[in-house]
Amino acid sequence: MRTGRASALTDTGRRRPQNEDTFVCEPPLFAVADGVGGAQAGEIASRLAATALEERTPGALGEQALAELLREANGRIFRYALEDPSAAGMGTVVTALLVDEAGGTVAIGHVGDSRAYRMRAGALEQLTTDHSLVAELVSSGVLTPEEAERHPQRSAITRALGTEPTVDVEAFTVAGEPGDLFLICSDGLPTMMSDQGVAEAIRSSGGDPAAAAEALVAAANARGGEDNITVVLFELEEGEEIPADEEPSAPVADEELTAPEPSAEHAEGEEELDEVRRHGAGSGGRLTALALIAAIALLALLALYWGLSK
Ligand code: MN
Repeated sequence: MRTGRASALTDTGRRRPQNEDTFVCEPPLFAVADGVGGAQAGEIASRLAATALEERTPGALGEQALAELLREANGRIFRYALEDPSAAGMGTVVTALLVDEAGGTVAIGHVGDSRAYRMRAGALEQLTTDHSLVAELVSSGVLTPEEAERHPQRSAITRALGTEPTVDVEAFTVAGEPGDLFLICSDGLPTMMSDQGVAEAIRSSGGDPAAAAEALVAAANARGGEDNITVVLFELEEGEEIPADEEPSAPVADEELTAPEPSAEHAEGEEELDEVRRHGAGSGGRLTALALIAAIALLALLALYWGLSK
């Protein structure tokens, strides 16, 4: 078995001023992180989590490896918040899936209220249980699932990465079958639509992950788009596993969120300026380098001018 087509899409939605969600779509690893915190802190927290996941050692598989990556992310976010008062209290929820192609299994690491679903033979199944107040009230019988969907505290989470020095990661493994379609999403999707609506949007796209991603984000926005909406979809298919060094890069919908760090070899003017804008803080070094190049060019021109005028 191997990972087939994959696609990811993130959208600010229609009410929030900024997008604090981040995704990872790097087969065999997929994740959605939804940050919480004032100012830019939520975005920083979700990006720190994604970066920690992306630093996974190639070949590291299984729920223990995934849980360890999330604990590492927890430590990084917690320490960042200690050092930067403007980021105090920031955190992120995250749901990450790691496919073991040879083993035919999918490990799931989960903290908070982003979700993982599996569509198999036309039926949608929620794989994760939210770490949220209303999910606990449902499991203890205080609320019905229908009451939970409308509850004013439905976005109150009981677990997050980065808010405490240690975190309790829920990790488990499910069996995969060729034809399975997995969906990871931030709460901006299920708070806007029922599981039935999600299943219909996926079916209407014929099971194509890219079309399904577009359909889901459009549907959540059509129902109000009250929060950032992020979806990652991938399918499992028959076939030999793809060796790690030949893994194809997944189609990526949001260039900004997954832009690779700029490399020194591609330091061309336009591109470089674009990267400086994207990465904001921490790009001071590149700005200085650009200024230095401009100064040297100016000196060379002046030297040429003086040479010609004598
Ligand atoms: Mn959210």
